Amino acid sequence: MSSTRYRAGLAVLAAASLAFGISYFRAIGSKCSAQPAKRFERTVEAMDTFVTVSVSGVDEAAAAETMDAAFAEVERLEALLSRFEPDSDISMLNFASPGEAVKVSPATLAVLCEAARVSDLSDGAFDVTVGPLVALWREAGKSGALPADEDIDAAREKVSFKDVSLDAESNTVTSAREGLVVDLSAVAKGFVAERAAVVLIRRGITSGFVDAGGDVMFIGSNADGRPWRTGIEDPLKPGTVADTLYVRNRAVVTSGNYRRFCTIDGKRYSHIIDPRTGRPSQGPAGVTVIAPGGAAADAWATALSVLGKDGADAARRAGVEFLMYFVEDGEINRFESEGFAAFRKDGTNDQR
Ligand code: ADP
Ligand code: MG
Repeated sequence: MSSTRYRAGLAVLAAASLAFGISYFRAIGSKCSAQPAKRFERTVEAMDTFVTVSVSGVDEAAAAETMDAAFAEVERLEALLSRFEPDSDISMLNFASPGEAVKVSPATLAVLCEAARVSDLSDGAFDVTVGPLVALWREAGKSGALPADEDIDAAREKVSFKDVSLDAESNTVTSAREGLVVDLSAVAKGFVAERAAVVLIRRGITSGFVDAGGDVMFIGSNADGRPWRTGIEDPLKPGTVADTLYVRNRAVVTSGNYRRFCTIDGKRYSHIIDPRTGRPSQGPAGVTVIAPGGAAADAWATALSVLGKDGADAARRAGVEFLMYFVEDGEINRFESEGFAAFRKDGTNDQR
């Protein structure tokens, strides 16, 4: 079982259990209201994980109809963005020759633009062409032997998103380099959560969320009119909550080095790669990002996993709030952006 599935599995389990439990990156409705509005929820396997859509404030028929529409959007976007679907926009792009302008859908262009923005602001720490390095380190994890320096250098040569140009006028994408492979793993789940939430909002939903494997886009307030309450998992005690957050109209995404990693010679290596060194990130054990949109939150959670504390200025310029966990001497040390504290307080943060 992949750890992504495991993580999502926890969320689904939490949804199924009626007891007040700890849910992993998952909304917990407040228990105070005398007559809480009814909440409708559905979970579907998609994006190589589980996607949950939850809505309230409408009757059952309207809820079913809006959830259908949201899942149709998830399916549509997955078909465009998957690297494994031969007809997807991303496959078309990956199979194109250098210099060939590939026409893509506006949604594909939008997620690539967000990826480009985060790449630029993070000075290349975020790079969706990092696949050859991911593959090299995955192989190393399987064989138990560190990759040779030459192999790392050769793979690094094939990582360069700045050689991919995006033309918003003609909706085309052009790679200037042979062998570049775009893999949107680090941004697609957040993007899809965001777009599915937009579908719900357009259909009049003012309270709900879309959870794509732990990358959550919250709409409005919860069914009781309170901010959504969500927990960040303790990297030292998986399954328990280390921090509780309260958000309205925000995406909350966590990238953790502690859950997905490989071990070589007894040392743990993250699944997030620093494209500048060609080696797994040595950064924080976990990074949680709160942002207005899911794509930015997802991409920045990955970018800040590479940059660590050095990424604080870039995150500020990008307008995202973050909390990093560093595990040192068996303890969690936190490092967070200035605006993050507002999300620790129930009801006092009043963003729209
Ligand atoms: P998760 O998949 O657990 O949600 P992330 O959003 O952080 O975590 O995405 C990590 C995935 O993104 C990796 O498995 C890999 O495919 C890809 N990746 C690794 N390093 C980078 C990077 N520096 N920039 C962009 N994508 C990356
Ligand atoms: Mg990410």
